[in-house]
Order: sequence, then C-alpha cells, then structure tokens
Amino acid sequence: MRRGTGTTVVEHGLLVDGTGRPPVTDGTVVVTDGRIRFAGAAAAAPPVPSDATRIDARGCTILPGLVEAHFHATYFDVEKLEDLDIKYPVEYVTLLAAVNCRLALECGYTAARSGGCLFNCDVWLKKAIENDLIPGPRLCASGREICSAGGLMDWNPDFRRIGMEGLVFCINGVEEARKAVRSLVKDGVEWVKTYPTGDAAWPDVNDHHTLCMTFEEMHAVVGTAHNHKLKVTGHCRATAGIKNALKAGYDCIEHATFMDDECLDLLLERNVPVVPGLQFELASVRRGPEFGLSQRVIDGHQETLDGGAESCRRILAAGGRLGMGGDYGFAWNPHGDYAKELTFFVREVGIDPLVVLTCATRTGAEIMGRGDDLGTLEEGKLADLLVVDGDVPADITLLEDRGNLRVVMQGGIVKAGRLAGGAAAASCQTA
Ligand SMILES: [Zn+2]
Repeated sequence: MRRGTGTTVVEHGLLVDGTGRPPVTDGTVVVTDGRIRFAGAAAAAPPVPSDATRIDARGCTILPGLVEAHFHATYFDVEKLEDLDIKYPVEYVTLLAAVNCRLALECGYTAARSGGCLFNCDVWLKKAIENDLIPGPRLCASGREICSAGGLMDWNPDFRRIGMEGLVFCINGVEEARKAVRSLVKDGVEWVKTYPTGDAAWPDVNDHHTLCMTFEEMHAVVGTAHNHKLKVTGHCRATAGIKNALKAGYDCIEHATFMDDECLDLLLERNVPVVPGLQFELASVRRGPEFGLSQRVIDGHQETLDGGAESCRRILAAGGRLGMGGDYGFAWNPHGDYAKELTFFVREVGIDPLVVLTCATRTGAEIMGRGDDLGTLEEGKLADLLVVDGDVPADITLLEDRGNLRVVMQGGIVKAGRLAGGAAAASCQTA
C-alpha cells in the first residue's frame, strides 16, 4: 500500500492514542513519509518543515484508525443462513465484497481481520487493497471456514445435492480437518476460522449449547495450522466448546459467550483475545420480528446477549483482551454499522469508553498480528488515524455517523472523510 510523502501535522485535537492512556487535550500528531514521528502534547511537538501540510483538529478527536476484528467482507443483506451460500455467484459476491471494503474504510476502519469469507475472496481483496486497486481496510484473510458435517454451517439437505464448497469445508474426523487446513494454507489465508459450536440462529439441532466439532478435530486443525504458521479461531458459544478450543491451542475465541471460571483461567493462561460481536445479538433481538425471526430464535439471541455481556465484563475485569467487531452484513445488522459495537460496549456493557477504544484499536491490531505497526498513535507506527468531530470519549456514538469523520488517514494519506480529495489529501499523496 502506498504511503504519503513529506510531513503532515494534525494539530490541536483531543488526542486518544489507543494505548489506554488518558487523552491529551491539546494533542498533535506529526506524520513523516506515512509514519508517525510524534504523538503527544502540541507544546512538545518537534519543529516541522515550513511546507508541511497542516490539519487543524480543534474541536475534534484524533485517534488511531479502527480495526474490525471479525469482518465478513462477503456477507451482504443476509436474512437466512441459506443466503450465505447460494444467494449470488462468486462473481457478484466479489463485487459486493469490494463495496463493503470501501464502506468500512469510509467508516473509519483502516484495518480488519476477516472472520471468514465466501470462496477465497478476502485473500484477493487483501491483494487488491495492498496494491491500491480498491480502497479498503488493511486485511487479514481467513478464506473459507471449517465445520464438521451436520454442524452449524452444513444446512443443505443431501437430497438437494448442493455442496457448501464456497463457504465451508464440511469435515468428518481428523484427516479431513488436516486436509481442509492444508487447502487453506495453499489459498494463502492467515487465520483459520472454525465452528466448534452452534448458534441461536439454528435452535433445532445446532443451538448455542451444541458442539459442532470434536476436540480431536479442533486439535488436528491447530496442529496443522500452527505447523504452517497460521492462527486458529472459532465460533464458540457453548461452555464446553470454549474449553475445547482453549485446550486445543486456539489463538483467539470468537464470541466466548458462556464462560465459566475454568474458561476464564484457560483464557488468561495464554492471554487469548476474544472478539465478542455482541451488537449482532442486540440487533437480532430488537429487529428480529421485523425480519420474521421466530420467538424461539430471538429468545436464544437474548440469552446469548446476556451471557456474552457478562463474560465480557469478567474478561476485562480479569485483565483479558477483547477485540471489537462482528457479523456485520446481515439485513438487520448491515455493513456500515460497525461502530455500533463500540456504543454497545459503553452503553449496554458498562465499559469505560477509553477501554473500548483500546479494544477497537490496539487489541484489534494485536489480533491481526500487526501490533508493532498498527493500532496506536506512537512514534514509528504507520499513520493510520482518524480526525472525528467532537469529543469521542465523552460521546462514543459520534463514531457511528460517517458525517462526523473529517479525516480517515491510511499510511499518511487521507483516503476518506470530509477532507479526502481536498488540498490536504493531494499534498500528502505520492506521485
Ligand atoms: Zn461471524
């Protein structure tokens, strides 16, 4: 991805650096050749060349670009599980996914970790974004997911003779688990996404307390993935599924809904991050009736919401890590709504806004394996940052409205926000 050249100074804003440190009221960030040279109090900023581009951030918050930690680039207007596999051909899915990537960047998400993707779209989206062919977040790809036969993601009855090849590898046993991971190795993914448990969305045979993979299969996935330096995560709601994942050596847990004390101990032992994705549950409860979800499914989402929120409080109180993101692309939880996740954690879970912002920036970058380069506004890191109207820690909902974004900067280049395409963007772009 291209980087800006020359010097840009973003000055006199409320600086939230993503480390969890208290905001600096008159803060300045100096960017040189796409990297942060200084971030701190304006009074302590180093001198800059006279031709530096200046962005006045008075009345605004300067913060690191947000990281969507469970991004489904290929989900679009999903109402039923079946919409995920046979709604559109891969050609159209790819175009929709490119549109979703542009939207995510416009919403202030300068990086995203895939939570699973149809076909192998995210690997190629990542390439297109890195080569500046399309705008989007810096991506960490997952490609197709892995689920055992008969599990949550294997819903087409056999008589229809419709496979699930574009969405998941439906496996039986450890050999097929290894085979699926080996395919993903060749596809070029970084994270292997699995389905250890079911979900409220399928109350009959794969609900949120059902296991969809055996420990042996999960262990085989981890062994093969780690051998090839890939990381493993999984959709884990049921308590036993969370334990299986942690004991099998998973590198991240998606959702971690029903945590008991043993789960928490196992999680903290290796400081495994969790991506709860709870706004999806809230949206499913609130808007479910409008989309014809049965009361049984809605009740399951409510149970998931309550259990998930309580688990998140415990994880953070015990010093664990949460990434923000999850399952945008459903009809009632569309792409573009990503920042509602942050509002949910402040308002409904009762987490301090600065903690939530750290989850949404630094922890997200750590989950991507790019904590050294992204996620905070510190000297030496890539200049992925936002300038947002108003005081974001005082009102986290400001992030929900793209109209409040003055600057979305990636590698020192203003890519979106009201200043994009203006003098500031032009002057710091490379030729
Ligand atoms: Zn998901």
